[in-house]
Amino acid sequence: MKRLFGTNGIRFVLGRDFMLEDVLKVGLAIGTFFGKRRCLLGRDVRLTGETIASSVASALMSTGVSVYDAGLITTPALQYSVKSGDFDFGIMITASHNPPEFNGIKVIDSDGVEIPREKEKVIESIFFEGKFRYVSWNEVGSYMRIQGLVEDYVRAVLKHVNISAIMERKLTVAVDPANSVGVLTTPLLLKSLNCRVLTVNAHLDGTFPGRDPEPRLDNLGTLSDAVIAAGADMGVAHDGDGDRAIFVDEKGRAHWGDRSAALIVMDYLERNPGGTIVAPVSTSKAVEDVVNKYGGKLVYTKVGSIIVSRTMLKLGAELGIEENGGIFYAPHIPVRDGTMATALILDILTRRNEPLSKLFASLPKYYQVKDKVPCPNELKEAVLRALLSEIKGGRVETIDGAKVWFSDGSWVLARPSGTEPIYRVFAEAKEPRRAQALVEEMKAKLRDIISSLMSRA
Ligand code: MG
Repeated sequence: MKRLFGTNGIRFVLGRDFMLEDVLKVGLAIGTFFGKRRCLLGRDVRLTGETIASSVASALMSTGVSVYDAGLITTPALQYSVKSGDFDFGIMITASHNPPEFNGIKVIDSDGVEIPREKEKVIESIFFEGKFRYVSWNEVGSYMRIQGLVEDYVRAVLKHVNISAIMERKLTVAVDPANSVGVLTTPLLLKSLNCRVLTVNAHLDGTFPGRDPEPRLDNLGTLSDAVIAAGADMGVAHDGDGDRAIFVDEKGRAHWGDRSAALIVMDYLERNPGGTIVAPVSTSKAVEDVVNKYGGKLVYTKVGSIIVSRTMLKLGAELGIEENGGIFYAPHIPVRDGTMATALILDILTRRNEPLSKLFASLPKYYQVKDKVPCPNELKEAVLRALLSEIKGGRVETIDGAKVWFSDGSWVLARPSGTEPIYRVFAEAKEPRRAQALVEEMKAKLRDIISSLMSRA
């Protein structure tokens, strides 16, 4: 069956691979699925955001859904508002960290988490079969703009940290929201905590003139410079819809997401002994080391934020992480939330009273190498079967693709991408050369298998 939803909602380039008629049909399918309910609608800064949001709104109303339009908002603020407010579901128009030409549609369930795969399937079948339920003229849904959600959301985040202790520290924090909606929440949080706030790439601009919407170690130079120039205690960078956070220490050095996650996990387990942490299999061993050292329980999942959220709900786990800068803190809401992550790091910085660089230096250090091998979608399953039969030695985990652990603590993961015709290959080791060698070895193995399968086909 054809798919509409990818790993995180529906993604497309409007006018290229997805037309406005398709957007309307998505709105009709979602409205038909939910029935005469109340939807909270929001969007990030992307240039096509208003067009897509208004089309989705029209379609929803024609199926009887009443639309409450929050306008520009972060994904986690919208998710929190759906959960805590008087709404039945939510729709966020965003392509998250994807390049500027992309946009997308995320559907949020009444619990604030993106809808599970089973519900996506129903919406997909309504979409592809065109079985839309239109209501009569006197049952058409209403439309209302709604304000003040961001302020309520920031107040909710603040409940989970020691406000007075952080206020006393008078920290200086630089923020890089990628010219998108993260500027609406994180600076407000920081000001509420008596921080001195500096921003870069902070005017709202859907062309993303400052940097790519995905915060990476190689595109945060402006933020690092700002941290150093201002003598700031830390910096934080968000992606296009504000659910990821990548942190920069006071020396201007950016740290990848699983290092900040390891720090948050360490602090959480010290305060909550025996706690359960949920993380995708691609997570750094540094997190597992920390969990073992502090006596917690680590549950690995397939890659994908919805899976992390849903696993947390199922297990009643309070903390989930993703290597890309995703922190899921269930006492607030079990979804990836860049502003909540910032609040947790501020709390740690205050409680431990040490510079962020020193806190990062105390964590186990590993080197990671990431690469990919092209692989036709229809061969992905056969490739995995062949790969698993070929692997000798090492402990093998098959939660998502094949992850092989070695006795020196290094590992290599080969995983079929859910969105692209490729196999992703990750490796991690204490030595960069070892990680590189593991990746090369796995890539060679995958290429052999793929070419022999292709020659047979
Ligand atoms: Mg995002």
